Amino acid sequence: MRKVALIVGSIFFLYSFYDFSSNSQFMVLVVLFLCRLTFLWLSVMFYFKPDYFLKSTPFLKITIYQLIFIVLFFIIVMKYEDYHFLIQAFSINVIVLGIFFLVPNLLHYKVCLSLFALLGYMVITLTKYHPPLLEFGSVFGYLSLAIFFSSISSYSLGKYMRLDFVNKQYFKELSTKDSLTNIYNRLKFNEALSCEIEGARRYGNSFSLIMFDIDHFKQFNDKNGHIFGDIVLIEIANLVKGLVRGVDVFARWGGEEFVILLPQTHCQEASALAERLRKSICKESMKKGMALTCSFGVTSFCSQDDEDLIMDRVDRALYKAKEGGRNAVVSEHNFHLRSSS
Ligand code: GH3
Ligand code: MG
Ligand code: MG
Repeated sequence: MRKVALIVGSIFFLYSFYDFSSNSQFMVLVVLFLCRLTFLWLSVMFYFKPDYFLKSTPFLKITIYQLIFIVLFFIIVMKYEDYHFLIQAFSINVIVLGIFFLVPNLLHYKVCLSLFALLGYMVITLTKYHPPLLEFGSVFGYLSLAIFFSSISSYSLGKYMRLDFVNKQYFKELSTKDSLTNIYNRLKFNEALSCEIEGARRYGNSFSLIMFDIDHFKQFNDKNGHIFGDIVLIEIANLVKGLVRGVDVFARWGGEEFVILLPQTHCQEASALAERLRKSICKESMKKGMALTCSFGVTSFCSQDDEDLIMDRVDRALYKAKEGGRNAVVSEHNFHLRSSS
């Protein structure tokens, strides 16, 4: 957008050559030159220091910039010795098209600016140059139509872009989230894991993984039904989501298995978190009279790890927790059974 402003400012300034060839009075030339120079200076400032003049919303800033352009254009038009009514009408048409299609802005600002350009031009023409009524009426009519069509087109384009944005957000959500629990899916987790491994190798960051699985969930489903099993999966996901940090990536690995990626976390801290999660799940399910438990595997990044190695290790830790009697946290290093109470 700022580049466009700079290009428009430069082209507007280059019209000085035309001014010199079509105006002879020194004072007129000075005024025209100063107007064009002011706008060029404004465009350059807008490019390099957009916040220098005005600390306002970008759209208001663009509108004020365009308004100054139109006012300078009016001053130039009024000063021209050799005034061509129809040529200036084309200029206004180009300005209207520029307002609608060159520079992003809110629709109501675009409409107000283009109406201001049209009405100002008409007032100047009527008061200073008295064109034939038919010509004046036709130009006014065609310019009004140009504004009308541009408004409709701009509105449709804006609507399409909004819809496109919503659709993209929706598909992004679909491709990264698990549809049942609304936490991240395996695809997103794998992506985050690759990123984290890259960061760990390059910058020496530490990170840990927790994998947990609901104990005897098949039995639970058989007893309570699959639909109730789904509700329990959602509740466990919500409970864990509330206990991990915003930077952690909590995902459904598949079925009743979940994984958590914990950036900047050592194995001991990860094990402590897993222990808290284990106890919370236990406590919540007891409250609801269900006696559901989970088993946890924990591991941390080692320098030789890749995605498969680290996942394999955390899976093994979980397997050990299951083997050791379930409802337990096992960390990768010694596979020591930490708790089973
Ligand atoms: P373990 O303690 O060894 O993990 O026993 P388990 O019964 O939990 O393990 P197993 O792998 O034999 O069974 C997993 C069960 O999880 C099978 C299936 O009924 C259930 N399950 C997997 N995905 C879903 C799901 O989306 N919804 C529901 N309700 N159940 C699921
Ligand atoms: Mg299970
Ligand atoms: Mg399982």
